[in-house]
Amino acid sequence: MQARKIILKRGALSLALCLLGILAAFSNSFATQQQPIQQVTKPAAKMYAILLGTGFPRPDAERAGPSTAIIVGEKVYLVDAGRGVMQRVAGAGLKPANIQAVFLTHLHSDHIDGLPDVFHSTWQFGRSTPFQLYGPDGTSDVVQGILKFYAADIHIRRDLTEKLPAAGATIDMHILKEGVVYQDGDLRVTAFLVDHFPVVPAFGFRFDTPDGSIVISGDTHPNENLVRFARGADVLIHEAYLPQSNAPSAAPGDTAAEGAWFARYHSTATEAGDDAARAGVKILVLTHLIPHRPGDSDAIFRAEAAKSFHGKIIVGHDLMRIDLPSAQP
Ligand SMILES: [Zn+2]
Ligand SMILES: [Zn+2]
Repeated sequence: MQARKIILKRGALSLALCLLGILAAFSNSFATQQQPIQQVTKPAAKMYAILLGTGFPRPDAERAGPSTAIIVGEKVYLVDAGRGVMQRVAGAGLKPANIQAVFLTHLHSDHIDGLPDVFHSTWQFGRSTPFQLYGPDGTSDVVQGILKFYAADIHIRRDLTEKLPAAGATIDMHILKEGVVYQDGDLRVTAFLVDHFPVVPAFGFRFDTPDGSIVISGDTHPNENLVRFARGADVLIHEAYLPQSNAPSAAPGDTAAEGAWFARYHSTATEAGDDAARAGVKILVLTHLIPHRPGDSDAIFRAEAAKSFHGKIIVGHDLMRIDLPSAQP
């Protein structure tokens, strides 16, 4: 009897373990698929980031164009506005009218493809004041282009149908120079020059609050200025690509010339790890990802960055929420 009880107990135990295993496997695969959405719906610390788009110029079903939201309280700040950015703003549960300003790192198409939509959607859905746009020299052409592109629509919605506020259909442009470019309450935004030659100037941004700091590299080759401005930051969100082979000059361009440019004006995951280690940041987030290598690219990105950076590494996916270390469990 006693033996049978033990056998029954063992049977029940192994059944329970088996069920637990199935549940764990199911919840793991569910977590993997749903992770980004789950991350953005949790309550958040005072400042955090959401990766709105982690892709690059080639259209990708899974990755919108480069764009990162920095959220401070209710206020939302966008760094770059790549393709699909407003879809991701909606996916992240952010209100268009809460977008305070857009900071452009540079004027490559992948970083501004979604900018007209940000300007227009924020106006159509609640912004009544001028659109605040911070960008490098050359941004005035972009501004004029957007206003011309929407001229007919602005006339219709402002003057004829919705009677949307006229001020909302205008753009306040701020041309960036290195240094503090924005202050709002506890938030300070500093622009700094990076090396995306021949794209000059190209900027990265540092967001500082009393709670902590988040730095965004923009598109850049490794450089001292980035390391200097990222020093001691809590989070560094850094672009990264994987060369097609281990040869440093072999990059994922379709031609040798494109490959040479990749190596010259972007950063490999290994180089991003180097920058993070040298700057002494706590968390490295890889974005603007260009995998171009077979296999589990998340694992490869992480392994490459971990060669020199020994802190926490997050391989970005769209709609992932990035908390400051002080807000993490
Ligand atoms: Zn670029
Ligand atoms: Zn880019």
